Amino acid sequence: MTERFTGSFTQQEPIPEAGIEAALAVLRHGRLHRYNTAPGEVAETALLEEEFAAYLGAKYCLALASGGAAMACALRALQVRPGEPVLSNAFTLAPVPGAIASIGAVPVLVEVTEDLTIDLAHLEAMAGATGSKVLLLSHMRGHVCDMDALTALCDRLGVRVIEDCAHTMGAKWKGVPSGRHGAIGCYSTQTYKHMNSGEGGFLVTDDAELAARAVLLSGSYMLYARHRAAPPPEVFEPLKLEVPNVSSRMDNLRAAILRPQIGMLEDRRARWRALYQGLEAGLAGAPGVKLIPRPQHEDYMGSSFQFLLPGWEPERVAAFVAGAAARGVELKWFGAAEPAGFTSRYAHWQYANPAPLPQTDRVLAGLIDMRLPLTFTVEDVARIARILTEEAAAAARAEALGSVAAPVAD
Ligand SMILES: *Cc1c(COP(=O)(O)O)cnc(C)c1O
Repeated sequence: MTERFTGSFTQQEPIPEAGIEAALAVLRHGRLHRYNTAPGEVAETALLEEEFAAYLGAKYCLALASGGAAMACALRALQVRPGEPVLSNAFTLAPVPGAIASIGAVPVLVEVTEDLTIDLAHLEAMAGATGSKVLLLSHMRGHVCDMDALTALCDRLGVRVIEDCAHTMGAKWKGVPSGRHGAIGCYSTQTYKHMNSGEGGFLVTDDAELAARAVLLSGSYMLYARHRAAPPPEVFEPLKLEVPNVSSRMDNLRAAILRPQIGMLEDRRARWRALYQGLEAGLAGAPGVKLIPRPQHEDYMGSSFQFLLPGWEPERVAAFVAGAAARGVELKWFGAAEPAGFTSRYAHWQYANPAPLPQTDRVLAGLIDMRLPLTFTVEDVARIARILTEEAAAAARAEALGSVAAPVAD
């Protein structure tokens, strides 16, 4: 009998009971705005920032309305000007170039390697060609480049780094939390990330002036003294009349939902890694499938899974994806002609007028992506791996016969 999978690739775990209770308390007292506090009360948002900063060992933390808002705020805090070139890796998600475009700056996209990380040689070439002084580095799908080499290169080039840690919250490089290598780290707490408040984001930094600028930018209405993970008021004094309010605050309801989740990140990493490694083992022998090596120094979360189908014709990839879908396995293909669902690639971001990137095109042409929600079990991922191995074998047989793969399922 043909094996099928019936789980949902978009079903996350529920909000923990402690978060639900805390959220109800906020709803009952009604003070949802972060600066609406009773005498002596510390807002949930301020407490969340303090706790997230402590978790990462960062001096300063600001909670924001989304990960995209955090990246735009970080770019503004670094005083990136309209028309200024900002470097970013071409393999990322739409909110990253979108954040650059939102402040009128110009995305300069950099090639990706087969390991799905930024190509450092091309980064140097593009920094030289454009004179860009800022890199918005996206740790896309949790793949982290050699951060020592990247940091050394950017220091040498005088390029400041903002890290997009939407997929690396809780991950580390050589023991250092992701987001702590550059000038600013940005995180998302959107439903599909590692902590879930529906929408939300963070920015962390050790730089007092950047932190003060970010707080003012987020819309602090001169109430910045109520923050607990922000620099002292004297840092704000010379800036407060100069920095515009671009309202993008987080509210106390989301903060209440998030606070109990910080302490769950370690356990989530262990559970994600069990799913990830189960899939990795199950796909090890799949014909025509190339798994992505994970560097020794990368303590990754594993909240999604990618593999390459190198050299496959587009029709064959499409047939493989359709065959998997017919058996309940939802794959995303970064080589598809049209953007679909959450998956678009750099050539689709026409507002950025992207130059062709042949190496990235080659990688994305065969790049398959899969969500791994924590509602899956190790038995689930073993089943998924069996289905994908059979579909890859069917594609290989069809290749040998010179026809497009007939899916295994009827
Ligand atoms: C989700 C995501 C973000 C931030 O997204 P928001 O929806 O704005 O919170 C940033 N970068 C990447 C790579 C993402 O996947």
